[in-house]
Order: sequence, then structure tokens, then C-alpha cells
Amino acid sequence: MNKKQLLEDDLKYIWRPFTQMKSLENEDNKPIIIKRGKGIYLEDIDGNKYIDAVSSWWVNTLGHSNKKLNKALYKQSKQIEHVIFGGFSHKPAISFAKKLVKLINNKLNHVFFSDNGSTAVEVALKMAYQYQVLKGHPEKKKFIALKNSYHGDTLGAVSVGGIDMYHKLYKPLLFEIRQALSPYCYRCPMNCEKETCNCECLESVENILKEEAQNIAGIIIEPLVQAAGGMIMYPPKYITKLRSICDKYNILLIDDEVAMGFYRTGKLFAYEHADIVPDIICAAKGITAGYMPLSVTVTTDEIYNAFYDDDIDGYKTFYHGHSYTAYPLALAVALENLKILEKMNIEEYLKPKIAKFSKELEKFKNHKNVGDVRQTGMICAVELVKDKKTKEPFTYEEGIGKKIYIEGLKLGAILRPMWNCIYFITPYIITEKEIEKLTDIAYKALNKVLPDEE
Ligand SMILES: *Cc1c(COP(=O)(O)O)cnc(C)c1O
Repeated sequence: MNKKQLLEDDLKYIWRPFTQMKSLENEDNKPIIIKRGKGIYLEDIDGNKYIDAVSSWWVNTLGHSNKKLNKALYKQSKQIEHVIFGGFSHKPAISFAKKLVKLINNKLNHVFFSDNGSTAVEVALKMAYQYQVLKGHPEKKKFIALKNSYHGDTLGAVSVGGIDMYHKLYKPLLFEIRQALSPYCYRCPMNCEKETCNCECLESVENILKEEAQNIAGIIIEPLVQAAGGMIMYPPKYITKLRSICDKYNILLIDDEVAMGFYRTGKLFAYEHADIVPDIICAAKGITAGYMPLSVTVTTDEIYNAFYDDDIDGYKTFYHGHSYTAYPLALAVALENLKILEKMNIEEYLKPKIAKFSKELEKFKNHKNVGDVRQTGMICAVELVKDKKTKEPFTYEEGIGKKIYIEGLKLGAILRPMWNCIYFITPYIITEKEIEKLTDIAYKALNKVLPDEE
């Protein structure tokens, strides 16, 4: 089939995510049909190669078509591809859960499997609410969530979402939450300065709790980076302080590590930077290095034990599960991923790359339309503004991000700016030379769209 036919059929038969389908009639908006991938590169059917600077939606960590992962997948497919997880089990699930709990130092030690990030969040919310019921607090049924947060696209996850463009329309279908301020340091909602900030925005959390802690089951956060909200970054001390607040008011801390988990921030999970332990964590994106859909919700003895009982009438049973719960093919890959990361000594491996990104980001700082340059581990972001002083953002309609995306493609990189924010979330295996190349491409693309005259 030729490219023209493929694109016609794509438009005719497929309904794409987050996309106004009619906009795909426009030549500039055609999807790029990918034929294969190798390492950090993707190749389309015309033979063009692009650096995958977004890790294929933030999931790919060890590069495309990794030999060891391919082998693990193939090997497992010859054993058992899938089996019902009600009443049955298998080695990949057992070995992975055991290894993961060991890596978390046994602080969170009960692993619930599902198959995507949104679902891991649904599991966490249901688990948290049921825990409160089992502890004799059925009235604790609201959650606190943050402005600008993203926790997935299923209805529970949308209920705790805080991005109007994605979430507002569905409001009539959602459960009630309380929204607290976003820890958006560059545009601090409390007008504080980074240097002297004491996480004053947490007052908004505490104010809600003063009003009605008796009705609150827990708070859900994206640790260190509100990713889909525009790579909004905040310091670890926020999480440390939040943990104390949760303890003071007796609510659960749910830590959505879906984007940050599996070393994206330089540590296995982002909460480790804050030296605390959440009550429940959700993880998904990096878990199989971008190979297979899989997610986990991991919790403590305290929560697990509240459900553990002789009673089997259902009241204390966690009624949740999916056809692909603990999918063996995915778990074999996830287990191999953990082994590879261990062998690489991943935390040390990432340090020079994080430092290299930091150095290369310098080139953006003087550009007249760059308001903020920020980095947390292997996540880098450049926020564009119309005016440095007033921090006035470009409007969505101006389509700056889209234009930079198109320039980036011509130069050989898949940059996918979110509105005003150019970001890099690359596979970990990117070399220092490639970091230079990628940031040069992004800088050139930026200058093409917004020339820096001075
Ligand atoms: C991507 C994401 C999700 C949703 O994960 P899916 O696998 O896309 O359902 C949830 N939380 C965070 C923080 C995410 O970045």
C-alpha cells in the first residue's frame, strides 16, 4: 500500500486521541507513519529519521527495538502469553513484584497490577476510599487534587484532573473534589520568589483540611513535575511538607508516579527526593521501558491490612480487576527492564546526561521569548512567553508549539511542545553528543518560528 492510500485509510477508519479529526484534512497535520525504530531514532515510511525526543509519549527509556527486551518478550511468548489472574499466577508477576518491593526497600510492599496509568489511578482512588470506609470513616469520600494536574482520561482520573481543556466538559459526569493551588514556581500563585519560597501554596491544601478534613479521603499529586499541565516543576520540600500535613489531618497521600517513576527524575521514584513514603503510589509509563502496557498501584502494610480479614462477604474485598491483570508478556519485559537498569547502575548512568542537558539548556536562556528554563532529572522544559518581563503567554490560537513541531521535524527531531512549552523527555540511552544535537535542533526550530533579533 502506498503512503497516500495509508493516510486516506488512517483518516477514514481511525479516531485519534486528543485530535480534532477534521484538522487532519490539512496537509500539515497528517500523521507520520512510522515503519521502525532503533535506539533513540524513529524512521518513517519515506526513510526520514527523527530523534524521539518525547520517548513515544514518555514511555520509552531504553530505546526502540532493544535486543534484550525483544528477547525477553519472545521467550515469554513461547511459555505463556496470558492467563487469568483470578486463581492463577505466574513467575513473571511474582518475580517482578518481589523485585520491585525490594527496590522500594519494603516501604510499600503490596503490588496491584493493571494495564495503564489511568487505571492505576482508578485503583488508588478506590483503594483509598475503601480504606477509609474500613477504618470507620465512610464520610471521607472527597479527594483533594491540584490545579493543572493530569492523572489520566478515565472518569475517576478526570475527576481529579485540573486542566480545563481536557477536563472541564466532562464535569457533569464526575465526582466532587476540592482543588488546591498548583505549585507553579515560575508563575507562583502566591507571588513568592523561588529563592525564599517556603511552599506557601500549601496553605491552600491546609485551608481545605481545616474546613473539612473529616470529609477528605486523601490528596493526589504528581510528584515534582506536573507533566501534562506544562512540565510545571516544584521542589521536593513541597512533598516533604505535604506528607506532614497529611499526617496531621489524617488523610492519605496518593503519589501518581505514572510519568516520573522508573528513574525519570534520576531516582526510581520521585518521592525519594523528598525523603518520605507516600501511602499509595501509581506507576506505569517507564515500567516496561515503553514496550507493553502495564501499570502498578503499590501500597503499605497499613492499607493492605485494613482489607485483610476472615470475612469473605465482599465488604473487605477489593473488587477491582481487568482482563489483562498481570499480563505475562508485559511482566516478562518489565522484569528484564529492571534487570537491565540494575546492571547499568542507572542512577549513576544518568548523572552525566542530566548534567549535559543542564549545560545545553543554557543556550535557550537569553532568547527573548524564553521565560523559564527548568529541569528535573531527565525532564527538561523551556517555557515561551511573549514578553519576559510581564510573562505574557502566547495564546493557544497562535499555535507557536505546532510551528516549532513542524520545524523540528524538518530538522530531524520529534519535539511535541505543549502549548507554550518545549520539552525534552528522551530515552535514557541518548548520548551526550545526541543531547547536543537535539537541543541544537530545538534551538534552531525556536529561532525559525520566533527569531531572536538581538
Ligand atoms: C500519562 C499519565 C497518566 C495516565 O496514564 P495512561 O497510561 O495514559 O492512562 C496518569 N498520570 C500521569 C501523571 C501521567 O503522566
